[in-house]
Amino acid sequence: MEKKLQNQVAIITGASSGIGAGVAKSLASAGATVIINHPVAATKEPADAVLADIIKDGGKGITYQCDVSKENEVIEMFADVVKQFGTVDILINNAGLQRDSPFDKMTLEQWNFVLGVNLTGQFLCAREAIREFLRRGVDETKSKAAGKIICMSSVHEVIPWAGHANYAASKGGIMLMMKSISQEFAWKKIRINSICPGAIQTPINRQAWETPQALNELLTLIPYKRIGQPEDIGNVAVWLASDDSDYVNGISLFVDGGMTLYPGFTTNG
Ligand code: NAD
Repeated sequence: MEKKLQNQVAIITGASSGIGAGVAKSLASAGATVIINHPVAATKEPADAVLADIIKDGGKGITYQCDVSKENEVIEMFADVVKQFGTVDILINNAGLQRDSPFDKMTLEQWNFVLGVNLTGQFLCAREAIREFLRRGVDETKSKAAGKIICMSSVHEVIPWAGHANYAASKGGIMLMMKSISQEFAWKKIRINSICPGAIQTPINRQAWETPQALNELLTLIPYKRIGQPEDIGNVAVWLASDDSDYVNGISLFVDGGMTLYPGFTTNG
């Protein structure tokens, strides 16, 4: 891959599995030094395995444990990375999870847990990234922008999702946080956009693809008739983080095989 992110440092949250791991690999192939964030001691081993793959392919990076929903841990992660690598150029705000429940049975704990990681976690990381981008300003030897943030949203920032109100609310929240801060900091040459994946084959949605029956049902929702792979998101993340997309600000880029095209109407509804 062309080294479009050479000499840039990228933090990818929730990168020990799924989309985050795929994005970390793609960014590393494009020349970035990747910080593979993972939340707890138990995720160190899979994070190390992602790093080992990256190093085997000639890439560079480290793993870093930090729970993105905890303010002190996020502040410390950014400070440590700046100390070790000089700055942060790219943030991939990817960590996310589900705690599904019928709405009338949803506990406050389930609600707060999902909002805490998916939305507050993105707020905390974006705030630290922006503080660093503002401190450093543009370094034209690396990029036309002072920094780039990519928020991992979902098709569920626009598609309502029964039984997943906490998750859908977190993704809808990401949309307007992303657009608001993009508007606020564009003049500082900070670019902030979202990727909205459709169905990507990862541990988060295993039950939707692990049997042929489930997969066939899922494919009725996808006009392009295949489930997405982490690499599909990684390729788009490299473009959005590179100067090739320098004039792209505040967009939600749907990478979903057409899932948001109202597939039920394909045969006229
Ligand atoms: P995944 O479960 O493989 O990845 C989520 C990652 O987040 C895990 O590695 C987990 O350890 C990490 N994480 C959880 N809590 C954390 C915390 N407090 N701090 C740091 N990391 C934490 O699932 P995925 O599909 O790769 O999901 C990645 C992102 O993509 C999520 O934001 C998810 O909502 C979004 N997404 C996924 C799909 C899909 O179809 N897979 C579709 C739309 C959006």
